[in-house]
Amino acid sequence: MRQSQLFTKTRRDAPKDEVAKNAQLLIRGGFIHKEMAGVYSYLPLGLRVLKNIERIIREEMDAVGGQEILMTTLQDPAPWKKTGRWSDDVVDNWFKTRLSEDSELGLGHSHEEPLVQIMRDHVSSYRDFPKAVYQIQTKFRRELRSKSGILRGREFVMKDMYSFVRTQEELDEFHEQVAAAYMRIFERAGIGERTFRTFASGGSFSRFSDEFQTLCDAGEDTIYLDREAKLAVNKEVHTPDVLEELGLKKDSLEEAKAIEVGNIFKLGTRFSEPLGLTFKDEKGEERPVIMGCYGIGLGRVMGTVVESLADEKGVVWPEEIAPFRVHLLALSGGNRDVVAEADRMYDLLHEHGISVLYDDRDVRAGEKFADAELIGIPTRLVVSEKTVAEGGVEATTRTDGTTTFVSESGIIEHLAG
Ligand code: ATP
Ligand code: MG
Repeated sequence: MRQSQLFTKTRRDAPKDEVAKNAQLLIRGGFIHKEMAGVYSYLPLGLRVLKNIERIIREEMDAVGGQEILMTTLQDPAPWKKTGRWSDDVVDNWFKTRLSEDSELGLGHSHEEPLVQIMRDHVSSYRDFPKAVYQIQTKFRRELRSKSGILRGREFVMKDMYSFVRTQEELDEFHEQVAAAYMRIFERAGIGERTFRTFASGGSFSRFSDEFQTLCDAGEDTIYLDREAKLAVNKEVHTPDVLEELGLKKDSLEEAKAIEVGNIFKLGTRFSEPLGLTFKDEKGEERPVIMGCYGIGLGRVMGTVVESLADEKGVVWPEEIAPFRVHLLALSGGNRDVVAEADRMYDLLHEHGISVLYDDRDVRAGEKFADAELIGIPTRLVVSEKTVAEGGVEATTRTDGTTTFVSESGIIEHLAG
């Protein structure tokens, strides 16, 4: 993509009312637009990042056998009344809307109830299991505090998967498979090293739920972590009893702030029972289906990457989720040979399937450098009079700022390594 064609512009200052670092940097870089507190639109650069996160999540959910669907946002109150979750006293973050004088609808904050309704039409025999179904879809939550940028949206995209199995063993087994898939997702998104599987307050069927917490000072959660064992305990369940149960020593745990990037639960029969989702076992006996659920916020992951990896100059994107692999800067100063060489480089990268943001704008070099640092694409390639004379480009890595001269024939290899 040619930067001269990109409709978004970078800006020096973030809006005064924006206090979250992730949103400040993302707004300045032209990745997102703030509509109001907790409500953001994704612009071309931001959408590319979100789509990359979506692709990683989809690949990993498909790999554990998840089947993708797309459910509706508008929610019929009936099944929610059956499970006791329609009341605002029980679920305090419902957005509800009125269809007519006497009929209300909900805007989905989660999808256990409607999916159980769907499954009732399709699974009934022990032969129909196990199954896992997921979607990547917009959720609405009336979050009271919305000061954390895209980490806590009132409208946000979530991947939510639900599993349907016959026995506790099947549930435990699938839960572990998804936990492993989650760690792969966070590794691929560039935050694996600082993300810890964390014991947190329970699902309805188990003593704990598993959160995935990324170390970050901006986090709202406090966790106690064992770095070597690569696990942690959320403050909400950090009691002498729990530590003993988990075989953890209080003194060997480190207290830290963290962001919850994912959460997986064993639901058991919490929803299948009241909604009548059952199956006939081998003996022909009717039994309730056992369920689990598995959530990740896409914007939460994106915001966490920004919060934890950015430096004083701007965003630093890990390769797999970066909006582009290469930021190509033409510093021509009006020199046509430089423009021609940069154009050629742009084509060459394209031919090799490498995504490029090409800064072909007629602006000062200093502005191009500052924008490249703010936008945070992993590799910057500079073409200038000097590099043309030397027959190559100057390659700079965004993470550590190291710059090397690379001859034209070595560029593709440089990017691969
Ligand atoms: P929190 O405690 O942060 O409010 P939660 O425990 O209510 O989150 P879940 O219902 O477990 O959230 O949702 C699954 C995942 O969806 C979370 O782990 C997080 O990644 C993401 N998520 C939840 N709420 C939001 C939000 N308001 N904005 C963006 N992502 C969110
Ligand atoms: Mg949670």
